[in-house]
Amino acid sequence: MKNYYFLALMSLGLLYASCSKDNHDQSSNLASKEKVELVTLKSGVVVEKRGNQYLIGGDVVLSEAQFKSLEETGDMFPKKELKPVSIGEQNEESIQFKNVGVYPTPYNLWAMVRYTLSPNLTAYTKQTITEAINHWEANTNVRFYNATGQPTIDPTYGFAYPYVEFTQSTVNNSFVGRVGGKQILNLAQWQPAYVAIHEIGHAIGLYHEMSRPDRDNFVNVNISNVPTGNQHNFDKKTTNYSYIGAFDFSSIMMYGAFDFAINSSVPVITKKDGTTSGIGNATGLSFNDRLWPNSYYVPYIARSDVYAELAPVVYKPDNTVMTAQERLNLQAQLNNGNPNPPNCCRIPNVH
Ligand SMILES: [Zn+2]
Repeated sequence: MKNYYFLALMSLGLLYASCSKDNHDQSSNLASKEKVELVTLKSGVVVEKRGNQYLIGGDVVLSEAQFKSLEETGDMFPKKELKPVSIGEQNEESIQFKNVGVYPTPYNLWAMVRYTLSPNLTAYTKQTITEAINHWEANTNVRFYNATGQPTIDPTYGFAYPYVEFTQSTVNNSFVGRVGGKQILNLAQWQPAYVAIHEIGHAIGLYHEMSRPDRDNFVNVNISNVPTGNQHNFDKKTTNYSYIGAFDFSSIMMYGAFDFAINSSVPVITKKDGTTSGIGNATGLSFNDRLWPNSYYVPYIARSDVYAELAPVVYKPDNTVMTAQERLNLQAQLNNGNPNPPNCCRIPNVH
């Protein structure tokens, strides 16, 4: 059995997963009337306080546990969650990391991204959410379960479902990965779909591409052209990340060259040759953006029984599609050798 399926298998019991988005155009963040202050934690990490929430990276919201961990250890994820996905079969060095995302564990990724649509969403924003979800599902193994109007507490076992609530806001932001319980994904009005695709990228576990620890080998960051209060958005991840391959200028998770610029005619991010072409211009997932989710997610169909039924198209970690036989073999592996789902029990799931 391929180790990268372990995570999805582990979390199948909970049945559902999540999603989120921020923007390349930070103007909606800047336009927010909310009071924003910078807080330096004991660990030295600088975070933004916005209302009751703490954020890093411009649009990444911290859970209470992540804030506490960040304050005490300088890292968002508590040490106890650091078991690798492939427990018992691989060590850290042998896992193939793609893009830059959370260190994957059964605790911070999803089986399916369970989500709800807040009643305050405009028709326009709802439409962009649907487009973004369809884009993720067409290009990756990430699957979404629309639980709008359904219980938020499991009726049998009494635990709170982890889920993303898409919410209308004046800003775009999201938590990174599955946090537990309700996690709000904020979207401002009149955002293009790629903003929702980006925020969903955070919710499934991706960080910003320019926060890769090796980014200085690929780009120059002119931090003097960034307001003091926003400079922390360009901090590098130095712990508990996973990534591989060359820097991806066209990642949906990459800021634009001029985002946060004080002097808007001078870029903040340039390539090593001094140019800015193609930096952060993505309107959809790049090839590299797809590698990370396709390594750690498996596309389930929502069911009310315990059978793990796979979607017709299953991507491999290199973005190629499994053959029909490979798909059936995996489905058998996930179901005690039985490749045939019972002819029942699919749950309606309309985005
Ligand atoms: Zn972001």
